[in-house]
Amino acid sequence: MPQKSALHKFFEPKSVAVIGASTKPGKVGHVILRNMLSSGFQGKVYPVHPRAAEILAQKCYPSVTEIEGPVDLAVVVVPAPVVLTVMEECGQKGIEAAVVISAGFKEAGPEGIERERELAKLAQNLGIRVVGPNCLGVMSTGSGLNATFAPGFPVAGKVSLISQSGALATAIIDWSIEQGIGYSKFASFGNGVDIGAIDLLRAWEHDADTSVIVAYIEGVQNGPEFMKVTRQVSARKPVIVLKAGSTQAGARAVSSHTGSLAGSDEAYNAAFTQCGVIRAHSMEQLFDLAVAFAYQGPPRGPKVAILTNAGGPGVMATDAVERVGLELATIQADTISTLRTRLPEASNFYNPIDLLGDADSSRYTFAAETLLKDSNVDAVLAVLTPQAMTQPKETAEGLAAAAERSQQPVLACFMGGRAITDAVDLLNRRQVPTYPYPERAVQALKAMVDYRMWRQEPPDEPVAFKADRDAVHEIFERARSEARVNLDAMEARQVLYAYGIAVPKSLVAQSAEEAAEHAQQIGFPVVMKIISPDILHKSDIGGVRVGIRNAQETMDAYELMMLRVHRYAPKASLQGICVQEMVQREREVILGSARDPQFGPLVMFGLGGIYVEVLKDVSFRVAPFGQRHAHRMIEEIRSAPLLHGARGERPCDIDAIADCLLVVSQMVTEFPEILEMDINPLKVGEPGAGTVAVDARITIAEK
Ligand code: ADP
Ligand code: MG
Repeated sequence: MPQKSALHKFFEPKSVAVIGASTKPGKVGHVILRNMLSSGFQGKVYPVHPRAAEILAQKCYPSVTEIEGPVDLAVVVVPAPVVLTVMEECGQKGIEAAVVISAGFKEAGPEGIERERELAKLAQNLGIRVVGPNCLGVMSTGSGLNATFAPGFPVAGKVSLISQSGALATAIIDWSIEQGIGYSKFASFGNGVDIGAIDLLRAWEHDADTSVIVAYIEGVQNGPEFMKVTRQVSARKPVIVLKAGSTQAGARAVSSHTGSLAGSDEAYNAAFTQCGVIRAHSMEQLFDLAVAFAYQGPPRGPKVAILTNAGGPGVMATDAVERVGLELATIQADTISTLRTRLPEASNFYNPIDLLGDADSSRYTFAAETLLKDSNVDAVLAVLTPQAMTQPKETAEGLAAAAERSQQPVLACFMGGRAITDAVDLLNRRQVPTYPYPERAVQALKAMVDYRMWRQEPPDEPVAFKADRDAVHEIFERARSEARVNLDAMEARQVLYAYGIAVPKSLVAQSAEEAAEHAQQIGFPVVMKIISPDILHKSDIGGVRVGIRNAQETMDAYELMMLRVHRYAPKASLQGICVQEMVQREREVILGSARDPQFGPLVMFGLGGIYVEVLKDVSFRVAPFGQRHAHRMIEEIRSAPLLHGARGERPCDIDAIADCLLVVSQMVTEFPEILEMDINPLKVGEPGAGTVAVDARITIAEK
């Protein structure tokens, strides 16, 4: 017996009551009943209507409680004010699953919000699971169940769809029907009073009829739970998500670089990357990806062979392959010899393989089959433009047959209009993903390769470094007892030190003479900085001096700094001047963390200075993460080659930067009260020389 999912009453009910079925065609309550009766559902359908004797030739019941037999699923379409009463009756009837289609809840002002709260409470008390309210409903092609008011019903297939928006779902379904894309299950959860995306993902993780889950969501309520579940489900089947609304996380006071750069979209991107979720950035991409994953298995690697009957499109496809970071396969000598036996002399036998403008279907089929046997080829992309001798439909047929016989995927890019319509239909039916432009085909392939790689990776376990948590705790307590949320530089230094991050020797001076003494003790050259929790960027007001070589310079610098602070920041509270060891490491990078409202601590990495401020060349991960993501964060920024020693620069200690990222990840996980922090800059030496944090900023939550 296959395991029953927790939501099986929604997708495999034996009997369905349509409460609020309407006698008037065109009303939602009528459309749903008609959909229920016309989709091949084998179970019982009970319309419930207060007065009608029958609707659409079905016997009607005045109340759900009057139905003789058991009812697995209630579809509720009554006006909002009646929903609660109807739910009570469902409870009496022993119904455990309800789809509440009715609008007039959270989305409809204060009264609706209150009503929704009551619905949540009532459903919980009665033990009824709810999809909705204010939703399109649910479908299951396997059960012939269409409990929606959508204008059509898709064919059966392996894709299951979650949509927060009902309106968008009708468009998706309608388009899919036209394209012949098959679905297994569908749910639009509307306001999501009970069941949401996470429940559906969990329910479909083990669903044998679902091989790809596609979701349209507008937001995530519980980031950590979302990450846990998607990580788990993605390990079994691809999860493709279109997340709408990539706006910044509201207007809030930001006290660090990281805070100003970490928008909620960065958090979503990071969380998706870490959990293997495939992100679609548009509706178009959502379909492109859904089709690729539903029709073909992901390739074993990144090496693509391109087949074409025209130079231009071949070049476009090649460019796209390189741009997204896939590889052009190097065709083996044996394969080339085989290709030569049946292809014209003038063909190009090196990737992209040009079959020439007069290529008929047999050339395509032979080349595709031959290439798919080459162990250097992980995927074939067949590009076709309709020319005089082209046989689009026969070619489609041949490619489909080749794809069916191969473990490696075949994708098609048939470019054109009327000349290729039939061919495209055939490709769709035979499950060869097909795209009108090479770039879209290549993007889909890239997503498949990435997903395959993600699944092969072991979990990225966080590393636990030794840390003096008590010391950190004390520093935070002291700041709070003084009603401060911004730690001063000395405190921030101590926090880093407690976590084993190297910091320069520093001593605080209250007079020029004391500064000189400290400098002697530390050893020249030294750096001097003002210490004030009120000054964000010390160097902006001349509050940092580097390369001070002797006692006289130290005393002069002290006087000058004091003068400047009094002039440029007269209101700032000044705690003295810090005399600091001058760190001799060339490169500067920035590490930081900010708290995302949904996902919690986000860790950021970038090069210092203009790279962060002007170019916003930074990368993010949700903490905690392990070595792999620490290194990927470093490699992801555009200027990463500079750290490896590009253009005559010396390479730097990448491993030490990664360790520091791991420490930050651990620190912000262990201390959720850290709202924002920056290490700016972390000075980095050559490989083996390690890192030193010369400036840090930490903001904690009020108690
Ligand atoms: P702020 O960011 O408030 O202006 P910093 O402490 O970051 O002040 O100092 C500004 C710059 O001075 C740093 O980016 C770094 O280049 C340099 N610097 C600061 N402290 C040191 C140090 N101890 N050793 C070497 N260079 C330093
Ligand atoms: Mg700084």
